[in-house]
Amino acid sequence: MLVDLKRTVAYICPFCSNISSRVLSVFNFSGTDRIQLICPTHNCHEVCVNITQKSDRYKIDVECPLCGERHTYSISRDSFWHKKIITYKCPAAGIDIFFAGGEKDVEKKLCESTELYPEALEELYEEDEDESFNLLYMIIERLHKLKDRRRISCVCGHEDVDFNIINGNIILTCARCKKSKLIETSEETLTRLLNAHAIIIGD
Ligand SMILES: [Zn+2]
Ligand SMILES: [Zn+2]
Ligand SMILES: [Zn+2]
Repeated sequence: MLVDLKRTVAYICPFCSNISSRVLSVFNFSGTDRIQLICPTHNCHEVCVNITQKSDRYKIDVECPLCGERHTYSISRDSFWHKKIITYKCPAAGIDIFFAGGEKDVEKKLCESTELYPEALEELYEEDEDESFNLLYMIIERLHKLKDRRRISCVCGHEDVDFNIINGNIILTCARCKKSKLIETSEETLTRLLNAHAIIIGD
C-alpha cells in the first residue's frame, strides 16, 4: 500500500503575526534531524517552529504568537505522518497555535482558531490590567526578546542599547551616541511591540 507521507503544517509568526503553511514530506528529514519553519514575510524570516527528530519521536518547539513563550510538544513519528489532524494549544490562552495534517483539515482548524486570536490576546493581557508592574514586566520581556534578535538599533547604527526605568516608563538609550527613546508603559505599547518588527532609536 502506498502511504502519503506528506503533511501540511501551519503556524503563526510571533513577530509579525503572519499565518503560514507549508507542505512537509518525510524527505525533509532525510539527512537532518531538525526542520525549522520560518516566517516567509519579507524582512521578518523569524524561526517560528523547530521540529527535532529524536529516535522515533518528534519534538515540536513553537514560538507562541499569543503569549510569547516557547511551547514544546512531543509526538510519535508515526502519529505525525498518519494522524488526520494534529493541533497544539497555547496553555495560557487555550487556543491552537500549531497545526499539522491533511491540507483541508489544517485549513479548517486554522480558520477556526485564528478567528479567536484577537479576543484571546485581549484576555491574556487584560488579566494584568490592574497590575501595572506586570505590564511593565511584559513590555521589558518583549523588548529583551527583540534585543536578543537584534531588532533594536539606533539611527547611528549601534545595536548596544541600555534599558532604564524612569517613572514607570522604559527609556532605551544607545550605548554609543546616547540618543534615547521613551517606551510608555501601556497596553497599547505592548500590543504595538508584539507586532513590531524593529525598534529604532532616534527615529
Ligand atoms: Zn514574521
Ligand atoms: Zn502561548
Ligand atoms: Zn546611537
